[in-house]
Amino acid sequence: MTAMKCEKIFYENKHNHERELSKKTFLKKATAVATGTLAVGVLRGGRNKPVLLQDRITAIINARIFNGDRVIDDTTVLIKGESIQAVGGEVPAGATVIDGHGATLMPGLIDSHMHTDLEGLRDALLFGVTTELEMNGHWTPKKRKKIAERRDIADLRSPGMGLTPPGGHPTEYMSSSNNLLIRLFYRYPTVSTPEEAVKFVDKQIAQGADYIKIFIEDGTCIGFPGLPVLNDETLNAAVKEAHRKGKMAIAHVTTAKGGRRAIAAGVDGLAHIFFDSQPTPKFLDATASSGAFVIPTLVTISSAVGNNASALAADKRVSSRLSQKWLDSLSRSMNVYPQGKLEDAYAGVMALHKAGVDILAGCDVSEPIPSLGGLAHGASLHQELQLLVAAGLTPIEALQAATSTPARRFALTDRGRVAPGARADLLLVDGDPTTNISDTLSIRAVWRQGVQLKK
Ligand SMILES: [Zn+2]
Repeated sequence: MTAMKCEKIFYENKHNHERELSKKTFLKKATAVATGTLAVGVLRGGRNKPVLLQDRITAIINARIFNGDRVIDDTTVLIKGESIQAVGGEVPAGATVIDGHGATLMPGLIDSHMHTDLEGLRDALLFGVTTELEMNGHWTPKKRKKIAERRDIADLRSPGMGLTPPGGHPTEYMSSSNNLLIRLFYRYPTVSTPEEAVKFVDKQIAQGADYIKIFIEDGTCIGFPGLPVLNDETLNAAVKEAHRKGKMAIAHVTTAKGGRRAIAAGVDGLAHIFFDSQPTPKFLDATASSGAFVIPTLVTISSAVGNNASALAADKRVSSRLSQKWLDSLSRSMNVYPQGKLEDAYAGVMALHKAGVDILAGCDVSEPIPSLGGLAHGASLHQELQLLVAAGLTPIEALQAATSTPARRFALTDRGRVAPGARADLLLVDGDPTTNISDTLSIRAVWRQGVQLKK
């Protein structure tokens, strides 16, 4: 759950040293696998003439193309430098040709809800997730810049830290931590008044937040009933300040009451669909007319009601790309709301979809610790697509939820589609995910900004 970011902080503090060491190893490996930095790399061209990477052309031919919206008639895409140069047309002489026969080319996937680190961003890209929308986490501008420059990990957007009152979600994870230091000394930043909310929002934006995240969580559905929640005045002030600064406000909710409060406050999106009940007609009307989107995170709800993801972990297309700790994590479940029914969330997704509400795919993965089981970076987004189809979306609608729809809603105007001029963030998979959604996992190749990820 969104909640779990705090566990991430606790985990990060606890394992900081370990993480630094593994970061060094990771960076070494990453340097070895990355194809190169576009600005400085050169290849040898015909007659041994150097070809700048930004001039190199790759042609993917004979592929079915899902352009982020629909399947198109063209079967050729030209990549030049970091962008898509053309869709359809002739293959120029000297291009590197990749035969996509039997495969489908689509935009790199966008995960609209997770909590990550560099290792998570790397795993995401291995699964063709080229952009990750963090939903609560501290990233310095320096780190963000480095991520933007790399080609071997997913790109990132972030809200900075989310707003919550003293003792509110996700601080319960700290106060119940086994780590005495965290329990006694870690203080999650909180807000108590509208004035504090305004300052908090301004601070996140000053530090580079792309949108604002607000927690509305009373603990009912996450195993901590009775948590304090922001009052209406503070909630409204936070949303208003985000909007005044030109940023979206996105609310974490897991109950119908939280959903109603969030929509009434004018948020731009819900980071979960609530799962204590199905949406009422009144809620559907209010949400549709507000224009808010919903990121259901069905995989997290599935874990919350007690389902593990062992079947996903057993899939060779997944196990070949994940470390054992993440495969173990997939095999567990949170089981914090066993009385809940995944079918209620399915029905909610379909009711919202039919009411015209944009549905965005996100998985809410964070750390591979027992209380956050059932999820893994990258892999769980593919499972989210499968669950969206199980709920009743068509495979094409599910794919839109991970490509063109989040690109439109988060103003990522340079990606989320296969079109001339768009970033060459691409995913080539065997088969046809537009009719069989699980084919998204049959990954043949991934490109971030025109650079193909080495296997
Ligand atoms: Zn989350």
